[in-house]
Amino acid sequence: MTEINMDKELRNGIKISAKEILNSKYIIASTGAGISTESGIPDFRGPGGAWRSIGGLIKMVVKTPTAKPNPGHYALAELEKIGILKCLITQNIDNLHRAAGSRNVIEFHGNMYKLRCTKCNTRFGIFDFGAMRAHRSRCKGIVKPDTVMFGEPIPPDALQNAFDEAERCDCLIVAGTSSVVYPAAALIPRAKRNNARIIEVNAEETGMTRSVSDHFLKGKTGEILPSLVDEIKRLKEVK
Ligand code: NAD
Repeated sequence: MTEINMDKELRNGIKISAKEILNSKYIIASTGAGISTESGIPDFRGPGGAWRSIGGLIKMVVKTPTAKPNPGHYALAELEKIGILKCLITQNIDNLHRAAGSRNVIEFHGNMYKLRCTKCNTRFGIFDFGAMRAHRSRCKGIVKPDTVMFGEPIPPDALQNAFDEAERCDCLIVAGTSSVVYPAAALIPRAKRNNARIIEVNAEETGMTRSVSDHFLKGKTGEILPSLVDEIKRLKEVK
């Protein structure tokens, strides 16, 4: 059991959210830069965000290759392992969800350790030269870094799969994102169309907190997500 000094309101919110999750049939999660700040990678718009200073931007570039997953990443990986979380959609490029053990991950903005063919969407590890040579012999597409740059379209397979998952889910956990970057932010209205329940975990209120979220768990993802998973496991045992 994760021992964290949480106030009563947050503890109640976690209990209610855990029940909500266990009463749902198809649960997915969507994460953003905020889930990786506790791994030392600055987000963009949070209080220590990279957009707020030149130092922040430099830190983001330097820190990302050495960063390790934090308890928030591990909690979501565990939720998948125990069969509850069906899919994880992330805007992050840092590979930390996979490093924590998450398997069914859609990387909306790509992965910094991969390259991608723009014609057939095949992905390669950045040093997987053998696979790249074999690919070149059968496809004439251009191979580029998988990461999506400003103004570049989202890889069509990631976009379609993410939208399909959002439309299928009946519960969406949104963690560590300001939900302002489109088309990632469009996952939420798509999920809402089917009356999916929205559980938001964030350090601060966002544009969706009061208008869209059914539950808002305010605080660090590295503390709240492990407590949420502990509570889900506890309730599963007593069922
Ligand atoms: P954002 O910076 O716009 O928003 C991050 C949100 O997370 C903020 O609301 C902030 O208050 C919250 N937050 C910060 N630390 C938190 C914590 N420990 N616990 C809970 N909440 C926390 O991020 P975004 O919405 O993901 O949009 C930024 C874009 O930039 C994304 O599209 C992403 O691709 C890219 N980006 C990626 C990385 C990465 O790969 N780690 C880092 C920075 C930016």
